[in-house]
Amino acid sequence: MTNSGFTFRRVREELIETLLDLGIKDFRVLDAISQIPRHIFLDEALWSRAYENRSLTIGYRQTISQPYIVAKMTELLVSHTKSRGKVFESILEIGSGCGYQSAVLSIFSEEVHAIERIKPLVQKSRENLSKLKINNVLVKHGDGYQDWEKEKKYDGIICAAAPREYPNDLISLLSNDAKLVIPVGGTTQKLNMITKINKDEIKEEEFDDVSFVPMLAGKSEDGNDV
Ligand code: SAH
Repeated sequence: MTNSGFTFRRVREELIETLLDLGIKDFRVLDAISQIPRHIFLDEALWSRAYENRSLTIGYRQTISQPYIVAKMTELLVSHTKSRGKVFESILEIGSGCGYQSAVLSIFSEEVHAIERIKPLVQKSRENLSKLKINNVLVKHGDGYQDWEKEKKYDGIICAAAPREYPNDLISLLSNDAKLVIPVGGTTQKLNMITKINKDEIKEEEFDDVSFVPMLAGKSEDGNDV
C-alpha cells in the first residue's frame, strides 16, 4: 500500500481518539478506520485535512462522509455480530462516492456490492480501491433505487444518500437479522436502522441527526445534473 502504512500517523491516531470520545465503542470498527488511509480518497490538495472528523469535497457536488458517520453506520451494521474478521458474506452499499466507506466495509464482508449514480465517481472509486489492493468491492454504475440484483440477499445494506422515506424494496433484499442503515429526511434527517426480523416483521430505530446529500433517482454520466 503506497502512502498508507505510517503516513500521517499522529493525525490518524488523533482521529481514532476523537471517534472514541464521540462514542464509537466497537473496536473492530475503530481498527478498520485506522487501517484505511483516508487521504488516498481525496485530491492531494486536501491531504492535510484528510484525518479531520469532517466531510470534504470529492467533486461533482458530492462529499466523502465524515469519519464519525462512517464509523457509526458501520458499527450499527455489524452490531448483531461478535467475531472479528469477515462477519458477512455480502453487503450492499448505495452511494459509494469516492469509495472510502466501501474500503471500510471490505474489512467486514467477503464481498461488497457498491452502487454509485455518478459515472466519474465510479471510475475514481475503482482507482482508489485498487491503489489499496482492495479487490472484494464491486462498484457498479447505477441507481440505488432499483439497479441491484433482485434475487440476491444481503447481510447488510448501507446507504450514504438520504431519501425522503426509506425504500421498502431494500428490505426485501435483506436476509433475516440483517440491517439497513440509512439516513432519512429532507432538510432535517435522522440516521435510521431497520432490522429484518423475518419476512413479515421488521424493527425500526432512529439514531443521530445527520446531513447527507439527497438520494437522487436515475444515473448520471457526468455529474452535471446534481
Ligand atoms: N460513501 C461515500 C459518501 C458518498 S456521498 C464515502 O465513503 O464517503 C453520497 C453518494 O451517493 C454520492 O456520491 C451520490 O452521487 C450518491 N447517490 C445519490 N443518490 C444515489 C442513488 N440513487 N444511487 C446511487 N448513488 C447515489
